[in-house]
Amino acid sequence: MPQPPTLKTAEIFASIQGEGLRLGEATLFIRLSGCNLDCSFCDTRFALKGGVTQTTTEILEKTLYLCRSFPAEWVCITGGEPLCQDISNLVKTLKDRGLKIQVETNGTLYRTLAVDWYTVSPKPPEYFFKPEYVEQAREIKFVVSSELEFSVLKKARADFPLKTPIFLQPQSNLKWSRDKAWTLYKQGMKEGLKNLRLGCQLHKIYGIR
Ligand code: SF4
Repeated sequence: MPQPPTLKTAEIFASIQGEGLRLGEATLFIRLSGCNLDCSFCDTRFALKGGVTQTTTEILEKTLYLCRSFPAEWVCITGGEPLCQDISNLVKTLKDRGLKIQVETNGTLYRTLAVDWYTVSPKPPEYFFKPEYVEQAREIKFVVSSELEFSVLKKARADFPLKTPIFLQPQSNLKWSRDKAWTLYKQGMKEGLKNLRLGCQLHKIYGIR
């Protein structure tokens, strides 16, 4: 029986970061189970419930094992919503091994952690995010779902510093969503929205995990 501190995990694997500014960088992914939201477009539904209970040591061992044949410098803790669980021990343990930590969050939860890179992806209908991310987010990512409106992008541009890029992430790379992302991007250009970026899911284009 695993002893605490334990976390519920959905999968641990090595790949490239397929989204955002870190696109294409070798990354070890720790996908945790559970989420406080239930988005209609969620493409990781398998991680919303259940999961395997593992100790921090077990997660570290698996991550370091993967690192032997795929020596990535970055670990991305994702989900689900990773901040539904107390990941402080995991973050510290990974950092003690010299790994850099990215956390992908929907932004509704915040914990004080020694994270190197927060990717904040606010979700409809409110697109709420904790105020701590205004300074701490390295990038903002909006899934271009049917709900996403231009006003949401305008508000985000006003809320976050100009240095923080806002990514338009087509929903599962679907054509209608790519078309909508391009339309929103052009509107952003017309209205002077700075640091707006067009994104994609590179791992899906390559057909990898
Ligand atoms: S916040 Fe993310 S993981 Fe949670 S339901 Fe929405 S898309 Fe899925």
